[in-house]
Amino acid sequence: MSSSSGFEEHSYGISISPSPQTSLPSNYLTPDLQDQETTISVSTAFHPTAHPQFPPTDTLLVSADGVLFYVHSFVILKASAFAFETTIGGPLDDPRFRNTVIPVPSVSPELNVILHAVYDISPANHSPTLQHLINAVDMMPNYSLPVGRLLHPDSSLFLYFMSIAPLHPMEIFVLAAHHEIHQLAVNTSAHLLSYPMHTITDEQADRMGAAYLRRLLNLRLTRFTALKNILLHAPLPHAPSRKCGFVEQRRLTRAWALASAYIVWDSRLDLSTYSLQSSLEPLTEDVDCSICKEILQARIDDVILRWTAVERTI
Ligand SMILES: [Zn+2]
Repeated sequence: MSSSSGFEEHSYGISISPSPQTSLPSNYLTPDLQDQETTISVSTAFHPTAHPQFPPTDTLLVSADGVLFYVHSFVILKASAFAFETTIGGPLDDPRFRNTVIPVPSVSPELNVILHAVYDISPANHSPTLQHLINAVDMMPNYSLPVGRLLHPDSSLFLYFMSIAPLHPMEIFVLAAHHEIHQLAVNTSAHLLSYPMHTITDEQADRMGAAYLRRLLNLRLTRFTALKNILLHAPLPHAPSRKCGFVEQRRLTRAWALASAYIVWDSRLDLSTYSLQSSLEPLTEDVDCSICKEILQARIDDVILRWTAVERTI
């Protein structure tokens, strides 16, 4: 049986000791241990032969819900020399942690995410829930695992967060801000341009902190102001001709003002250049004068270029 939390239930005869040799703590596997057959859940991603590129596993962790994870102390210690120290009361490379099962107070789907981060493997195969991902990251400091290092911009977990950021932008932004994973907050902010800010809860605001809340508000203000400024100036009039005089050109100026007022009023700040273009292009249809048409087209191109250049992230 496999599940999204990434473990399988195996039926082991008690004489078949999982490798490495273990002394199972009574609080996890009794009373079944009295029987000859007992059911042990073993992580599908961290079973004894899950990582053949490495030497045999030498450390056995058990999650709060009783799933075993066979891991390599050297991989964990590479992530942090103090990994799990506060939880286990000593350095992980102490020989006494080679012959015992180490209880970790996270449930298996969360420990699974943490270990994927430590091994720099994407947790995508297990489709962890957003809450498990958040809890996993929140627990890292408790295990002396440096969040900033495990979530550096090239890491598998960072890339996984980016892949789901369009679905949960605010939750991931808050998490990133809280742990000061700046690049993740920056990248995620691009998905928050049209986020209904009035729905931010007090808890979210507290957790992200004043600095990131201010950055997020500033980003919107900057884009809104930029959009207004970019659209502010109507196409410049040309010297009046017999066919196209002051009155005709005045009509175009008015049409531009109306169209841009509508765009600004209606604007989503994630307004794409395509939507912007399709709001302005129709203006060219009502223009007969070829010089006006040319000036208008140049003005639209300029608007698109300038809007593309406006910052999309904090
Ligand atoms: Zn004209």
